[in-house]
Amino acid sequence: MILVLTGAPGAGKGTQADLIADRLRFRKISTGDALRNQIKLGTDIGKQATEFMNHGRLVPDDILFGVLKQELGTNTQERILLDGYPRNVEQAKALDTLAAIHPVKGAVNLDVPKEELVSRISGRRVCPACSATFHVSANPPKKENVCDKCQTALTSRPDDQPEKVLVRLQVYEQSTRPVLDFYKAKGLCWSVNGVGQTEAIYAEVKKVVDRIV
Ligand code: AMP
Repeated sequence: MILVLTGAPGAGKGTQADLIADRLRFRKISTGDALRNQIKLGTDIGKQATEFMNHGRLVPDDILFGVLKQELGTNTQERILLDGYPRNVEQAKALDTLAAIHPVKGAVNLDVPKEELVSRISGRRVCPACSATFHVSANPPKKENVCDKCQTALTSRPDDQPEKVLVRLQVYEQSTRPVLDFYKAKGLCWSVNGVGQTEAIYAEVKKVVDRIV
């Protein structure tokens, strides 16, 4: 079964997805991480995705569906948490074609006001080696600019620069927000307030996940 975690860029999906995966026995699939990995490996998919990603735009649906199917596999017993997919209604419909193996049981939306999103993204730092995420003020690493988990020097994502962030927020409003209505119409959408302490948000997310599964 699939649980979809959705929300605007900077809403905290990655942080909550890691907690849900660790504590509630889900396998997390982040399409953003999968694409960044393809870029690191220098694959054709990575080459095709780079331009779109660096400009904050969505990578074409057919590329994403291929990546997704590869990541999902065919084990019908797995509990999968999707972080970053679907990003538009077409992708949500494509995901439904896999329902016989991976039915979507619910979508959890992290709700965060736009002003807060911009400040969160501009302070975000990521580990290029293990993908751990930090924030310069809200969640700083123990040693400045060094990953707590693997000691690699932290970087900023190319698409976290201010002008790219505005494009990503626009893309979210136009393409991704309608996905909430898609799942609402099926009675599968829950919203959680994404502002506050990580653990307090997780407690709310967990309540919803417990109801869904
Ligand atoms: P994320 O790490 O989820 O913020 O994703 C980073 C970037 O990867 C996005 O801005 C898109 O360019 C691309 N991406 C990730 N997931 C998708 C998706 N489901 N559809 C299209 N593009 C995606």
